[in-house]
Amino acid sequence: MRPAPRRLVLGGSALLAATLAGGSPADRLAGYTAEGSAAQRRIEAAFRRVPSEERAREWHRYFTREPHPAGTERNNELARYIADEWKKQGLEDVTLHRYDVLNTAPKEVSLEMVAPVRYRASLREEPYGADPDTANPRVSPGYIGLSASGEIEAAVVYAHSGNPEDYALLRKNGIDVKGKIVLVRYSNPYSYRGFKALTAEREGAAGILIYSDPAEDGFKRGKVFPDGPWGPESHIQRGAITYDFIVPGDPLTPGWPSLPGAKRVPPEEARSLPRIVGLPLSWKDAKPLLENMDGPLAPKEWQGGLPIDYRLGGERVRVRMKVAMDNLVGPNYVVEGRIRGAELPDEWIILGNHRDAWEFGGVDPSSGTASLMEVTRGMGELLRHGDRPRRTLVFCSWDGEEVGLTGSTEWGENFADELKAKAVAYLNVDSSAAGPDFEPQAVGSLAPLLAGLTREFDDPATGRNLLAALRSQVEKKRKEESLPPPGDDDLIDVRIGSGSDHTVFLNHLGVPTVGLSFDGPYGVYHSMYDGFFWMNRFGDPGYRYHALLSRLWGSLALRLSNAALLPFDFPAYARHLRSFVDELGKGVERRRLDLSPIYAGIDAFEAAGRRLDETTRRALQSGRVETPRLAPVNRRILEVERNWLDADGLPGRPWFKHTLYSARYTYAHLELPGLTEAVEEGDWARAARQSAILERALARNAELLTELAHDLDDAHR
Ligand SMILES: [Zn+2]
Repeated sequence: MRPAPRRLVLGGSALLAATLAGGSPADRLAGYTAEGSAAQRRIEAAFRRVPSEERAREWHRYFTREPHPAGTERNNELARYIADEWKKQGLEDVTLHRYDVLNTAPKEVSLEMVAPVRYRASLREEPYGADPDTANPRVSPGYIGLSASGEIEAAVVYAHSGNPEDYALLRKNGIDVKGKIVLVRYSNPYSYRGFKALTAEREGAAGILIYSDPAEDGFKRGKVFPDGPWGPESHIQRGAITYDFIVPGDPLTPGWPSLPGAKRVPPEEARSLPRIVGLPLSWKDAKPLLENMDGPLAPKEWQGGLPIDYRLGGERVRVRMKVAMDNLVGPNYVVEGRIRGAELPDEWIILGNHRDAWEFGGVDPSSGTASLMEVTRGMGELLRHGDRPRRTLVFCSWDGEEVGLTGSTEWGENFADELKAKAVAYLNVDSSAAGPDFEPQAVGSLAPLLAGLTREFDDPATGRNLLAALRSQVEKKRKEESLPPPGDDDLIDVRIGSGSDHTVFLNHLGVPTVGLSFDGPYGVYHSMYDGFFWMNRFGDPGYRYHALLSRLWGSLALRLSNAALLPFDFPAYARHLRSFVDELGKGVERRRLDLSPIYAGIDAFEAAGRRLDETTRRALQSGRVETPRLAPVNRRILEVERNWLDADGLPGRPWFKHTLYSARYTYAHLELPGLTEAVEEGDWARAARQSAILERALARNAELLTELAHDLDDAHR
């Protein structure tokens, strides 16, 4: 990668450098002829002029006006609103898809300490005059999505982050959590609360309380709401504990779409439904429990940000918790709109964002929804001016993401065959802006394209080139982890876990995915303080990052949509794959498992990728790139990502079929999942089988790329 020349965001000048992919000359975009590149720059420049800060702010105000969790009338109203607006903007085939899924809402929640002193937890967040929305009477108390219902009275044990090693330490101290209620803290960096719940369930706990310690997202980090971006004393992180790392989507229709009237499994057979009773707490409500605990002093790493001694507890503090949930089957709505492709209508670039929020959803997800509406407005404008994309653009507003990635999963299962045949890529935006730090994510084959595109934008606050800003950000992060400075391949995060709507596309259907967001100090996640006021005061005053994200997101979609040959970079994919194997190899003795066949497979895949790049370059230089000539090649390129799928899926969770990508139960990224899990468990027979699956996938793809290079040579001869 060469140092990037500075340029304006708008303007579309011929000086815009080419993307980094494919080693294209400076005047040619990857996947385009010279002539096509010039036309594409004009189209993208026209698109980038549309997204506006003011309009993003207006959308955002509308979406954040009321709480809108999945399954509520307000969220369904927003679905109809988006559908109407998309029609006005000029989108085609606007449809509301209805899925009947298990929704979740609290009927009654309470928590009372009965010994050694009485304390009744409020389970409520306090209003502040500075932000009138915080006085909205429709804000719910704290609750956990898809918690089991029940009433328990038991002693409380402090179990730190609630991970397996925390229970091991408790056992060492002679503390058993069976039948007790565990008090655990949310952890930063993020670890999925559903994993804490499953772990507590496995340990035999009767209930789980998850609280926000000020060390993680409160006053220990900086100024708190309404004076700063961090969580105030009563803020509550809501959230679901669905075991969607086993199978996401509606728990009652695992693996098939929950269309009205679909077959459902009984709840007691649903693998992703928690059996444990849970509640989230603010530190204000957790503190009386923590300061009355008995038992040994907790270790240093377990001490939190409150000015008390954290103890392990186990006897003295007893609480009564009551959770009565309304977990009933009801409709979720996915809004879909399109712009049909002019030349290759059966190749789809899909853009999606979830609509449902725990409360107002200032950052999560309404910032993303506002950005999406500016993308669709821009695409509508292009269409009005006669610029119909070559491939089809599909836009989706998902529902129920917060409950179990529900809407996207059901839609993906609904259209699985069609998606496997037609989807080029899925471009996800959950939250678009919580601050100025760009956090791009992509599968290895799309990372260079995304990096190249990033270089065409400037950070609106500093005027600095966005790729340069990203580089220093990554450099800083790597320094903190004592890693060497980033190379070009380290700028885009290619290690993709779960926790958002890309999951069904990547892990179940083998569709290449990209994720975009701007991050920053954000201590009000899933609380009612995550709203319009927070965004205007702290997250993105001026909505510059919202609009920037729209420009980037739409440009990426257009770049993929109009390319003569799809600009996947397979040699880059091979390099990332090699580093995944290197990492795995650190924990493996050679006599236990021989990784050399996998390395050989990667080498062959990389070499075939280089040959394809060569023929692509020749084809694009010749300029003989008529659609019918290249159509078979474009179509078959889509098979590469599909080839990573293994029909049997991962051992123990067959819904997850990708052999390179999955997520741990914590949602953390997990590369080469089948192989890695076998190695970590020391199951060498299974590791050998998983290795063979991977070798076959690599061979299929090396062969496919070789064939494509031949076909392409024939096509432009
Ligand atoms: Zn979200």
